Amino acid sequence: MDSAVATASGTAALHVALIVAGVRPDDEVLVSDLTFIAPINAIAYVGAHPVLIDADEATWQMDPSQVRRYLTEGCTWDGRELRSKETGRRVSAIVPVHILGHPVDLDPILELAREFGLVVIEDATESLGAHYRGRKVGTLGDVACFSFNGNKLLTTGGGGMLVTKNPAWARRAKHLTTQAKQDPLEFVHDEIGFNYRLTNVQAAIGVAQLERIEAYLATKRKIATAYDGFLGAIRRMARAEWAQPCWWLYTARFPGTIDSRELLRALEARRIQTRPLWQPIHLSPAYPGLRRYRCPVAESLYGSCLSLPCSVGLQDSQLERTLEALRELLR
Ligand SMILES: *Cc1c(COP(=O)(O)O)cnc(C)c1O
Repeated sequence: MDSAVATASGTAALHVALIVAGVRPDDEVLVSDLTFIAPINAIAYVGAHPVLIDADEATWQMDPSQVRRYLTEGCTWDGRELRSKETGRRVSAIVPVHILGHPVDLDPILELAREFGLVVIEDATESLGAHYRGRKVGTLGDVACFSFNGNKLLTTGGGGMLVTKNPAWARRAKHLTTQAKQDPLEFVHDEIGFNYRLTNVQAAIGVAQLERIEAYLATKRKIATAYDGFLGAIRRMARAEWAQPCWWLYTARFPGTIDSRELLRALEARRIQTRPLWQPIHLSPAYPGLRRYRCPVAESLYGSCLSLPCSVGLQDSQLERTLEALRELLR
């Protein structure tokens, strides 16, 4: 990526990325169903409509075969524009969300985007430091977004960044994030802009954080290796052979007879915090219009997964205690 624009949050970066990439009101944008809600909200901010794509059983990420199915069976292509058969709306972009620190299988998605003239906006907010087939996540689409929120791998308290290969998009993003002020002196604004700047204090924190990224990634790998070894093939976090995850949020799957929420409460009683995954967007009360989507894999993961303690500040003794509690409760 050639250009970067710092923003007040990852959500702000996604909002501006959609605008500069040419997504217009009433367009359709393909996006992961199983994700934190921010990218869906950003799509709504520009007046576009999310098309929810189910997760892939093997990776838990946006399923490229479902993307293909929607684009080839659900749309018509006149060699110039892609339109939904059902709604007649223009389809303009795909937003693959690399969830939990693991990359989306991007090559087939990039190929489909090229075939149908769509832009690809990577939501890389959870996967800074991850690699897809040896390439860095967040460098593969037309534009990518990062977050420096307090819960992310690198944090500035709050913040984000948009990166792109397109210098004109970067210039427009800089303009829009700084209230679209046209003149260095006079307060003349040539379009409706936003106050989406990252403050210089936050930027200084981010620069210092960046110096520690390799140490953070090594800690995350160590924690993931411990959980992987303990959980075994069925319960450990999904990992494709082509993926080098950054292990942002280590998540275990408890299929079958174990009730994940009961396990959560039992761990909570031992003062060990775990978290369920996000409610799949097609079930969200914030988007009642999206109830018609069927995303069975996302629903199954939502019911059976728990994110385990994996902060870079986690002490060895705390990790040991978590494994001990799991050993006892899963017996
Ligand atoms: C954290 C996150 C964002 C951005 O969040 P901000 O809090 O706005 O920085 C966007 N998408 C996903 C998937 C996230 O997890």
